[in-house]
Amino acid sequence: MDTQKLSVEAIKNGTVIDHIPAGLGLAILRQFKLLQYGSAVTVGFHLPSKRGKRKDIIKIDGVHLDDDAANRLAVFAPNATVNDIDNFAVVNKRTLRLPESISEVFRCPNSNCASHSEPVKSFFSLRSIGEQTKFKCRYCEKTFGRDAVIEA
Ligand SMILES: [Zn+2]
Repeated sequence: MDTQKLSVEAIKNGTVIDHIPAGLGLAILRQFKLLQYGSAVTVGFHLPSKRGKRKDIIKIDGVHLDDDAANRLAVFAPNATVNDIDNFAVVNKRTLRLPESISEVFRCPNSNCASHSEPVKSFFSLRSIGEQTKFKCRYCEKTFGRDAVIEA
């Protein structure tokens, strides 16, 4: 309990993304360009969680995510929580809602997809099945699992 509390309170002001399934922390960092804010980012891997599973945690100093940015994280980690930290205290604890669609962040894994040759932004409709997220491309209408989209 105390270590959980400490790890959340370790930044004065910013965002803590907690309860990321262990192993997905780096993918989230990279796909959502969380380093682009130019703020100090701390990542903890394989931390014990009171939910019983190992988890990753990401702390971003001085940055607050808006609801859209927070909900995009649900693509990888539907059960993550996004905590807003102000003066070392959690002032807002958000649970995530998977957005209905996502554009720009991911490339379509289908190399024949029209989105690669046209000057268009990628666009996927999202659907969650348990812990998994299915991506349906607007342009080629194919459906992909999360891992295929991460690697594309
Ligand atoms: Zn496509």
